Formats: sequence, structure tokens, C-alpha cells
Amino acid sequence: MSVLNPIIEQGFEKVVFFNNPSLDLTAIIAVHSTVLGPGLGGCRFKSYENIDSALKDVLRLAEGMSYKSSLAGLNLGGGKSVIIQSEKSIKNRNETFKVFAKWVESLKGSYVTAEDMGTSLQDVKIMSDFTSYISGSDPEKGGGGDPSPFTARGVFLGMKACLEEAYGNESVRNKVIAIQGVGSVGYYLAEILLSEGAIVKVADLNKVALDKAKSLGAEIVSPDHILSTECDIFAPCAAGAILNKDSIGNLNCKIVAGAANNQLEKVSDENLLLEKGIMYAPDFAINSGGVIMCADELEEGGFNLSRVNGRVDKIRETVSRVIKDSKSKNLLVSEVAISLAKERIQKAKAAIS
Ligand code: NAD
Repeated sequence: MSVLNPIIEQGFEKVVFFNNPSLDLTAIIAVHSTVLGPGLGGCRFKSYENIDSALKDVLRLAEGMSYKSSLAGLNLGGGKSVIIQSEKSIKNRNETFKVFAKWVESLKGSYVTAEDMGTSLQDVKIMSDFTSYISGSDPEKGGGGDPSPFTARGVFLGMKACLEEAYGNESVRNKVIAIQGVGSVGYYLAEILLSEGAIVKVADLNKVALDKAKSLGAEIVSPDHILSTECDIFAPCAAGAILNKDSIGNLNCKIVAGAANNQLEKVSDENLLLEKGIMYAPDFAINSGGVIMCADELEEGGFNLSRVNGRVDKIRETVSRVIKDSKSKNLLVSEVAISLAKERIQKAKAAIS
């Protein structure tokens, strides 16, 4: 099978490879859909085994962004980019992001970039001098800054929807919540949960992150045991693909609800959760707080905090609807969420043509 097959089968509008041999710099920008608006999605700066795994990653992420933005009611399409790390691109970081920003600019707005795994606000600052198609920028430049607190609040609200469905009570008080990864989002999530009376257990590979969470009052669990920790909610807030045929059997929770993108290794792995009686909040439905914030910078009149908060509030309703529909239609929650997202895109497409 050709590597191009998924691009055609999943209806990508555009997938562009950029290469600068003298800088040892290779990047891929994937635009899945621009039906609802420009394809917004962060830029990942990451080392990959080979170009095929980078392509696979960017395609899955870009398609996910189409559904995430559509489900969040945003007038945005789906896009994503990856810069494949090399020794030279790491060493010449500023030059890397300057050149990449020029590549983004060359697409004339079909793709809008932002911060993502491996990139920082500083990289965004550099890029914003070379492209106007960027979001999640410095608050001093009219941006919303760090999207993580918004993502964390959305996850918290999604958790409430899950608790209501599972226990008939949305309160997190005295519920045990195990968070895998207390980086940007996980830290804010632990803070909200603790302030609402939850018992929070956390694991991280980074000691500084762990110390910060501990000072909030979270209990530390080893990274090897967080997934099997007995809890009401397991919240994946680190890497993706952690829910798979090998790991799901070890879960000891009632609900999985967290911020990480692409938590299921394969969509069909949700069946394994179902078999164990575990409720799942689809990642792209619950973690849209960040994109909601980033999208707002692109609205007429610029960033508006109360509009952002209003849209983040709706995550609770969306997660609740997806879970209810999955029960009544006997479908996986991911299938329901994707079909709702696709429905909105199709309606917009029909209105244009
Ligand atoms: P981050 O890099 O700030 O934090 C991730 C944390 O996870 C780090 O502290 C890292 O040490 C830890 N970690 C990595 N592997 C681990 C493991 N095996 N066990 C325990 N801890 C581990 O990232 P973030 O911005 O907090 O994002 C977390 C996840 O949420 C990512 O998957 C990201 O794509 C997704 N996400 C983030 C946002 C956002 O607003 N930042 C929005 C949507 C989705």
C-alpha cells in the first residue's frame, strides 16, 4: 500500500513536505479540511524513527483537529505540522522556526500554526515575525498566551459530565483521580480538582513537575503504577496511544477522561474499555479548551476572554451528549463524536456548494 493512500482515503485537502538540506530541516504540514475555516493546529518538534512515522503522526493529528474544532463549534478546519528533529535543527533552533514560519506563510492561510509538543512560546514568538498565520501568541501581542489552563478547565468540566452519567452526581468531591503527566495541563487540572475536594494521585517522569504537584497536595504514584491505580477517573495528560490492547487490561478505574491527544492506539481499542465497563470521554471532545482559546485570536476584534470561557463551558454539554447518544444508539463514543463533527462539516460544505 502506498503511503499516499491515507491522504486520499481520509480526504486530506493538502499535505506538503518541506525540505532544506543545508539546515537538515524537514517538515510536513497537513491540512485535512478548510471547510469550516483555516486548518488550525500546532507544530510538533519531535524526533521520529523515519519519515513514514512522522507522516502517520501528522495525518492523524490533523484529521483529529478537524473533528475537535467542529465539535467545539469553532469556525476552523483541521491542520497540523511536524518538524522532524535533527541534531542541526535542534542546535539552530531559532533558524529552524524562522524557516518553518516562512513555509507556513507560503500556504497563504490554509494552515494556521500554534504551539504544540516540543515547541514553546518562545518559538511562537520567533515564528510570529515571519508569518501572520499563527495563534497562541504572546498576550502582549494580543494573544491568549498559554492554552493549558483552558484545556484543563475543559477536561474538568468533561469529567463532571462523565461523573453525572456514571454515578448520577457530577461532584468530584472525595473522588479519586489519577493523573498521568502533570506538565502544563496536568498541573492546572490537579489544581482545580484539589480545590474542588477531589483526592488526586499523580505520576510524572519529571521531578520538577512532580514537586510542583506535590506542593498542591497531590499524592505521588510511580509512573509504572499510575495506569493501574485504583481510582474513579484515570486522566491521561502525557503522551498519546497509551490506551491499547496491552494497557487497557491493567486499568482500575470507572472512567477515562484526560487531555492527551489520540489516547486510543486504535479507535477499535475503545471496545476493550467497553468490555471492562469503563466509560471513555473522547479526547478531542474533552480537550478542546486550548484550541478554543487559540481560535479566539482569529475572531474579528481579537481575543475575548468571556467568549472563550463561554465556549469552554459548553464542553460539559458536548461530552454529556456524546455519552448519552452512544448509549441510546449503541455506538462507541468516539464514533458518535466523529459523526457529530462530520455532520457539521458536511452541512457547511452543502451550504457552500
Ligand atoms: P507537557 O509536555 O507540558 O506535559 C506532559 C507531562 O507528561 C510532562 O511533565 C512529562 O514529563 C510527563 N510524561 C511524559 N511521559 C510520561 C509518562 N509515561 N508517565 C508520566 N508522565 C509522563 O504537555 P501538556 O501541554 O501538558 O499536554 C499534555 C497532553 O495533552 C499532550 O498529549 C498534549 O498533546 C495534550 N493537549 C494539550 C493541550 C494544551 O493546551 N497544552 C491541549 C490539547 C491537548
